[in-house]
Amino acid sequence: MSSCCHNMTNMFQSFGPDDFFSSRCIWVNGPVIVGAGPSGLAVGAELKNQGVPFIILERADCIASLWQKRTYDRLKLHLPKQFCQLPNFPFPDDFPEYPTKYQFISYLESYAKRFDIDPHFNEMVQSAKYDETFSLWRVKTVSTGGPNPIGVEYICRWLVVATGENAEKVVPEVEGLQDFGGYVTHACDYKSGQSYRGERVLVVGCGNSGMEVSLDLCNHNANPSMVVRSSVHVLPREVFGKSTFELAVSMMKWLPLRLVDMIMLILARLILGNTEKYGLKRPLIGPLELKNTAGRTPVLDIGALEKIRSGEIKIVPGIKRFSRGKVQLVNGQRLEIDSVILATGYRSNVPSWLKENEFFSEEGVPKKPFPNGWKGKSGLYAVGFTRRGISGASLDAISVADDISKCWKEETKHKKTSMAARHRRCISHF
Ligand SMILES: Cc1cc2nc3c(=O)[nH]c(=O)nc-3n(C[C@H](O)[C@H](O)[C@H](O)COP(=O)(O)OP(=O)(O)OC[C@H]3O[C@@H](n4cnc5c(N)ncnc54)[C@H](O)[C@@H]3O)c2cc1C
Repeated sequence: MSSCCHNMTNMFQSFGPDDFFSSRCIWVNGPVIVGAGPSGLAVGAELKNQGVPFIILERADCIASLWQKRTYDRLKLHLPKQFCQLPNFPFPDDFPEYPTKYQFISYLESYAKRFDIDPHFNEMVQSAKYDETFSLWRVKTVSTGGPNPIGVEYICRWLVVATGENAEKVVPEVEGLQDFGGYVTHACDYKSGQSYRGERVLVVGCGNSGMEVSLDLCNHNANPSMVVRSSVHVLPREVFGKSTFELAVSMMKWLPLRLVDMIMLILARLILGNTEKYGLKRPLIGPLELKNTAGRTPVLDIGALEKIRSGEIKIVPGIKRFSRGKVQLVNGQRLEIDSVILATGYRSNVPSWLKENEFFSEEGVPKKPFPNGWKGKSGLYAVGFTRRGISGASLDAISVADDISKCWKEETKHKKTSMAARHRRCISHF
């Protein structure tokens, strides 16, 4: 750490007048974690356990903003609760097998409280860059809370990226959508079907969100048509009373992936019948292999299939173009519709702020596949980009916190210098 402090002295001297007066500059004695979702919280908790100081920067005004602000009311965890726990903190015994989103949020709030985690809310990271000269990260934020944006620059040895695989919504460009005239929204802004009662709604996308939004619309007496452009794996959520996911995880310990896929598809056929006759064509690759290679999650059915069978949810092919109050499909069919819900997914936002292209790909996920995608160079880490939900994030969080902790303890042994005190006038010490 003494070398860090030495570097800091030089860095301090290198700031120009703009750096001095337009933004505050804060030295963080430990890692900066970006994002206060389950991943960021898990790293924070693990670091707390090891006595390592850190700060968490969060653009929203709450923890787990994806769950609190960008999910629909009826959402429950897709996977059984034992696969969605953060390290060292089980769900309460009285929680159901598939907790509701409200139960999950209350669990995360208890988690943050238990480990005394207090993120800096309303601070969006705009850029993070490794300064080779000083061997330090420079992380610039802007406040998202008030009318006058305030910039802060954090300087640290370690940077943990925990902004998630779902940081931004994906909105496809479709011809004529601007002329459609009806209400168009993304699934992340959809709360319930209540306001769609009696409407003809086009749901674009057939993943878990598309299926559940369509089901919710049916339950509120709306008339959804769901666009299935190519193919989709629908699996029962449970097989003979046991979670399909759990069954797959158990089988994968003993059997090759392709054999597990084959068994899953036979079970799906036995339980759900032939889904292709309802327009839900299956991909050529099995569900687990597809998840591993392309990140496409199979749909775990919680009732939408029944509504598809009964015709309450109509399956339609890809979209050609929109026009006023109408959509034309690739098969030439035209539908009159009132609203459109885009269940077209999410993407990482890392490329928009992290000035680095060795560890992260252009898509904003680590280039190295699981389980090796958590550690980059120069104190850069990633948590929660494994396409394995919260269980993957938990594994990352443990590895990252252990690694930083080892390094931090090593470096702080030699620390004890007065650098921060010398520059207290400009650089706050965290
Ligand atoms: C509808 C839905 C249902 C899901 N169900 C499950 C499930 O049942 N089980 C499961 O394991 N997984 C599920 N997932 C996946 C889920 O997203 C993750 O498991 C979990 O939320 C990932 O946590 P995270 O912390 O990595 O990312 P997030 O929860 O997305 O948290 C990232 C945080 O970073 C913040 N952030 C982003 N950019 C910046 C920035 N530039 N500056 C500051 N802060 C920033 C965001 O505001 C956010 O709070 C679901 C996802 C969706 C969309």
